[in-house]
Amino acid sequence: MVHFIGAGPGAPDLITVRGQRLLMEADVIIYAGSLVNPQLLEMKKEGCTVYNSAVMTLEQVLEVMKEAESKGLTTVRLHTGDPCLYGAIREQMDALDELGIVYDDCPGVSSFSGAAAALNLEYTLPGISQSVIITRMAGRTPVPERESIASFAAHQATMVLFLSTGLLEALQQELIAGGYSEDTPAAIVYKATWPEEETYRCTVGTLSDTAKEHHITKTALMIIGNAVAQGNYRRSDLYNPSFSTEFREAVKTE
Ligand code: SAH
Repeated sequence: MVHFIGAGPGAPDLITVRGQRLLMEADVIIYAGSLVNPQLLEMKKEGCTVYNSAVMTLEQVLEVMKEAESKGLTTVRLHTGDPCLYGAIREQMDALDELGIVYDDCPGVSSFSGAAAALNLEYTLPGISQSVIITRMAGRTPVPERESIASFAAHQATMVLFLSTGLLEALQQELIAGGYSEDTPAAIVYKATWPEEETYRCTVGTLSDTAKEHHITKTALMIIGNAVAQGNYRRSDLYNPSFSTEFREAVKTE
């Protein structure tokens, strides 16, 4: 059987308890070497074989899984963050379906959660934004036309951009063309939760310059929107004394 596992954003203790157990029990580990923290591999059991998928094709990954399965071994496929975001898991799962190999998926802490933690941010501040748009600039992987940054920008919601660190000048232009003002709060989080984590608060108009100034060219997330400033929000109703919930009666005021 194959277990797809989210490794978390970087810090080795941010893998889930379940993910850690499966990792410790694996006979074969195939990890995404470009972003998964290699420290996680230290918990492998003796005799476990490790492959770095950064230097492998899909076909080679599948070959390793097939071989392991034929010997009755358990494979862990370790993806960065949560596998459900930009993880290229569907193509592996479809191939495993064809091969009749059983698999499951263990979620992980995505880097967009790690980045929020690095900045102590709440993405969904009442009165500011109640939505998070997770997207990317089109690079070698195209993004459907109807999902242009400018069209998303029109919502003025909180936006988190993956895989776009090399395209910040264009990103900045598209955000502004779509309706964010230049002084909209923004942040760049480099290697969230790793020891070398760096965080920079800036504005939409200074995104590209901020990255250049600090030599950030990859492994970063850009966060856009008024939620980054964490000001001018309204307090939550859930914890408001005058508001009744399923669990708590409102406090009566005269
Ligand atoms: N499945 C992963 C995303 C993989 S795509 C997740 O859930 O996080 C790879 C992109 O994720 C990188 O280009 C970068 O934009 C972002 N990323 C991954 N780890 C990161 C980290 N620790 N800090 C900031 N960005 C990160």
